[in-house]
Amino acid sequence: ETDTQREAVLTAVERVTDRIAEEKGHLTDLDSAIGDADHGANLDRGFGKALAAVEDSEDDPAEIVKTVGVTLVSAVGGASGPLYGGSIMTASQELEGGITADSSVAFAEAYLKKVKDRGGARIGDKTMVDALTPAVHTYKKSIEEDELSPVTALSKAVDAAERGVRFTTPIRANKGRASYLGWRSVGHPDPGATSTLYIMEELLAVASE
Ligand code: ADP
Ligand code: MG
Ligand code: MG
Repeated sequence: ETDTQREAVLTAVERVTDRIAEEKGHLTDLDSAIGDADHGANLDRGFGKALAAVEDSEDDPAEIVKTVGVTLVSAVGGASGPLYGGSIMTASQELEGGITADSSVAFAEAYLKKVKDRGGARIGDKTMVDALTPAVHTYKKSIEEDELSPVTALSKAVDAAERGVRFTTPIRANKGRASYLGWRSVGHPDPGATSTLYIMEELLAVASE
């Protein structure tokens, strides 16, 4: 049980790391339009180190997730390092009793709460919160009210995140570096919302296997 979950978590870290490496140039292009052109490089460096830190780990799944968060905080830097890493670190506590449908909902909610508390962004500020909020609400509702399987719930959450990314394009940034551009941030998708979507797509791919 723990072994299977550990393998699944390690596979997820590998796939996310590969996807981020593939999208590094694209994420950097998005960040060059409304930021400082480092989002792809930041995440690529962070996930590369995170994968190296957990690759041969025999720890429990929750501990592995926590190590990924700790490593992202120290290796990513910028705005996204503490947001991604710190939130993964905190939310990993929800997985300590094992990964179940219920604990995955608790993880998602704790992650969103931490991103919002730490960054202070709300929906419509053109940040990762715009992808994350509808995704987490959809995931929770799909499991708790609609009684869907975690994989189906996650696929609905990915669709919601994708709509969230599209929603960031026509709006003006109110948080982070992109907010320095004022109205000139309009017309570009948010890099952090986009990377959030890519990560969720990889989690879905692993969960579907
Ligand atoms: P930096 O802006 O420091 O160079 P990155 O380029 O790695 O960091 O990350 C930028 C992304 O971080 C943005 O696209 C946005 O999604 C996210 N972000 C920035 N500030 C905030 C915030 N206060 N709350 C939530 N997300 C934020
Ligand atoms: Mg940047
Ligand atoms: Mg930067």
